[in-house]
Amino acid sequence: VRLGITTNLVRLATDRTELQEFLAAEWPRAQIGFVPTMGALHAGHIELVRQTALRSRVVVVSIFVNPAQFGPGEDLDRYPRTLSSDIEQLEDLGVPVIVFAPSADELYLPGEDLRIQLPSLSNRWEGAERPGHFDGVCLVLTKLFGVVRPTSVYMGQKDFQQTVVVRRLLRDLMLPIELVVVPTVREADGLALSSRNRFLSAEQRAHAPILIHTLRELAEQVLAGVELSTALRDAREILSTNHNCRLDYLDIVDGDGLEPVAGFDPAQRPTAIVAARFGSTRLLDNLPLVPA
Ligand code: AMP
Repeated sequence: VRLGITTNLVRLATDRTELQEFLAAEWPRAQIGFVPTMGALHAGHIELVRQTALRSRVVVVSIFVNPAQFGPGEDLDRYPRTLSSDIEQLEDLGVPVIVFAPSADELYLPGEDLRIQLPSLSNRWEGAERPGHFDGVCLVLTKLFGVVRPTSVYMGQKDFQQTVVVRRLLRDLMLPIELVVVPTVREADGLALSSRNRFLSAEQRAHAPILIHTLRELAEQVLAGVELSTALRDAREILSTNHNCRLDYLDIVDGDGLEPVAGFDPAQRPTAIVAARFGSTRLLDNLPLVPA
């Protein structure tokens, strides 16, 4: 048994053939729910897997730190890799899961130069800060969809822009895969769970919930009828005058095109988005103004 960590509940495949064998052994044409991750699993990921298990016959969790979505000078090397603890957490969940944890060579073939780009969605917000990031996400997901052939893919609201990009990717590639977006799992004080929270100092950690507090205040203002530009100006001021963080952006965008909205229209599925840096750690959060 590879790495000695395949159990009754969690089966680990590290190459495509092994994964295909596991999947072929399932009931023919089984409903497959897929959760793509980069590992370093926390309670947010586990909730995503739990939601998937509630609605799928077979659950596949991929664990792959995708080099294509990291830019030069980003944290690819210091991204946490914790496969055995990841598998333990999945075991503790108590539902059968197939883990697919390939090497980079297993997914990226010699000489390949495939590119998949959605420039209008991918080059703004997170994409402006991280050029090429969503191209890398689209590339690896398209490959993983081909390998796993899921019926549904489950992703976190936490990475809102990613969900918008993936919805468009599925639509434009005409892939018959349903996207299910799971609400953000938060700490008791509101901070969204993230693998990057571990890089915060105790002091930065204490200040980080200001992101969600500001978004909640902004949402309250807008829903109470305060003019959008006024509410946004106030929210930006709270974050840009706070010396514990450096604001990258804060805005309210529509749920399909990620354009800043001109006014409050529930039909546009407006979502408040924020990114800010606490020391060298960049945190994201978002809050849909209208429940899905
Ligand atoms: P990652 O490993 O960071 O690529 O995340 C894998 C999946 O877990 C993505 O769909 C994320 O949006 C989702 N995720 C990460 N953090 C959370 C959270 N706090 N709540 C819900 N989903 C999350």
